[in-house]
Amino acid sequence: MTSRMVRVVLAALVSLAGSAAVQAQDGGLTFANLGTPSGGPARVIGSYAAGCISGAVALPLEGPGYEVIRVSRNRYWGHNSVVRFVQDFGRRVQASRLPTVYIGDISQPRGGRMGFGHASHQVGLDVDIWFELSPKPRLAAAAREEPLLRSLTLADDSGIDPSVWQAGHATLLRLAAEDPAVDRIFVNKLIKRQLCQTITGDRTWLRKVTPWYFHNEHFHVRLVCPPDSPECTPQAPIPAGDGCGKSLDDWFVPPPPRPAVAPPPPKPRPPRYPASCQAVLHAP
Ligand SMILES: [Zn+2]
Repeated sequence: MTSRMVRVVLAALVSLAGSAAVQAQDGGLTFANLGTPSGGPARVIGSYAAGCISGAVALPLEGPGYEVIRVSRNRYWGHNSVVRFVQDFGRRVQASRLPTVYIGDISQPRGGRMGFGHASHQVGLDVDIWFELSPKPRLAAAAREEPLLRSLTLADDSGIDPSVWQAGHATLLRLAAEDPAVDRIFVNKLIKRQLCQTITGDRTWLRKVTPWYFHNEHFHVRLVCPPDSPECTPQAPIPAGDGCGKSLDDWFVPPPPRPAVAPPPPKPRPPRYPASCQAVLHAP
């Protein structure tokens, strides 16, 4: 399978979240309609796009250097390692004299597939952080539902928006990448290219910054499997190097012309939860 085909299949998987087929597989009970975590210590089960979490903890809705937005979604749950990461990250953002950052979705109280919005974020180890670096007004959590969230890229996808981009955005990505618990960070290909073209000195942290679709308004931080979770499935390691060579160039190759009669896209099968997730789903 070419890397482009892999991307097409992955993109199709995104649309599967919340489908009728997925709900039937859960016997009518879905992770998306459970409002509380299961008990016990936090344990990650399965993979980032097919898994769940027991004993999830809530990220405090604000702390030094950060504020959670869209609280009504109830997606601020995760493994302790994600709470520790966000709190450390916020402190380092503040120490760097950058404005408070907005934290978006982590996971549902028991992880699993969401009704809308993400294919991953299923095990409490993924967190979206918004690039918006304007000074933030002090608002109650409930008033942070639809804040200003600007894109770093131009609307026609031709490049970085110079009226929004600032050096602080690279600092945010470096601060996140330098945390040893971070496995990788997904950003738009134009943002990765901007880093490749402008970062001087230490470039080792660029390795973790991975081009992906969208991600021009926020970046997606993925943490490594924590040692307390033997059932957590890690991702394949990122190749060595700064990721600024051919692997990035491939993202800028225009797609081949479509044939007159396009064959239907391959039907991706919904990822299956590990058996242990059934217990998490049905726990009191
Ligand atoms: Zn994300």
